[in-house]
Amino acid sequence: MISLSAKPVVEKRRADLQGKTTRLRATLGRAPHLSVILIGDDPASQVYVGRKANAATKVGFTSETIRFPETVPSETVLKRVRELNADPRVDGILIQRPLPSQLKEKDVALWVDPSKDVDCLHPENIGLLVTGNPRFIPCTPGGILLLLDHYGIQIEGRTVCVVGRSAIVGKPLASLLLSRNASLIQLHRRTPDPASLCKLADLVFVAAGSRGLIKGDWLKPGSVVVDVGIHRDTSGRITGDVDTDSILGIPHALSPVPGGVGPMTIQVLLENTFAAASREG
Ligand code: NAD
Repeated sequence: MISLSAKPVVEKRRADLQGKTTRLRATLGRAPHLSVILIGDDPASQVYVGRKANAATKVGFTSETIRFPETVPSETVLKRVRELNADPRVDGILIQRPLPSQLKEKDVALWVDPSKDVDCLHPENIGLLVTGNPRFIPCTPGGILLLLDHYGIQIEGRTVCVVGRSAIVGKPLASLLLSRNASLIQLHRRTPDPASLCKLADLVFVAAGSRGLIKGDWLKPGSVVVDVGIHRDTSGRITGDVDTDSILGIPHALSPVPGGVGPMTIQVLLENTFAAASREG
């Protein structure tokens, strides 16, 4: 079974981005800048935000992490986002999810100026994506396509199954796959008999947030499986939505967790921030 490791893809793309950033810094007279807002102290969010900031610095961007306590009023965060929207030195703004309950996703999605919405969650950017004229590529789905392209896995004409329909992964991934001429099956919590539908697919993308959900009997032999799920057990071990023991010998390729979709997501975030900064220049 081939392991769709992000390492070679990220190494190459990050080196390219570093070079392009050096040239853009000369044109702009400053580095591309990413502002990340982190609310509360969810341990996983702290780790992800740290990785994003680190990766941004490594390619030559500047970045800042703006922290708020879990109980922060919605208006306080909105005020800060408006300041960032108005600041010409800020190219990309990301509000780390999950949000605390007083911040409503449908409101927050409208806060970030669409031209700085490097997470691609603003309805305007989703509309542009769905109508085939994307301003930004959503980070996780975009990273998945880069991974498949690197390993020469054909999308056009294949039957694909997306497990999950979240705004951040499942829905935009479905849209991108359709735009690459795949035929789509999309599963969610209320799908009856999901395993038999999944088994029809040549390519399977799992973003259900359910540890070990995908077992061997969900997969067609020789399929390609991309595992988006991230679960940390009490010993700190990270696993995904695929039950790796039960699928042994069935798929042709599988993306590892960790080391698959996660690093690709960060790469697209950097590329989106670079694109936003380039449009300023
Ligand atoms: P979410 O909870 O918002 O959505 C989960 C989706 O899966 C829902 O649409 C639900 O209907 C569907 N689902 C749940 N159980 C199912 C089942 N048994 N059968 C069919 N469908 C089912 O989750 P999300 O934000 O999309 O994240 C999914 C997973 O991906 C999580 O583990 C998350 O941590 C991970 N994630 C990873 C990255 C990354 O960069 N690697 C990025 C985002 C999310």
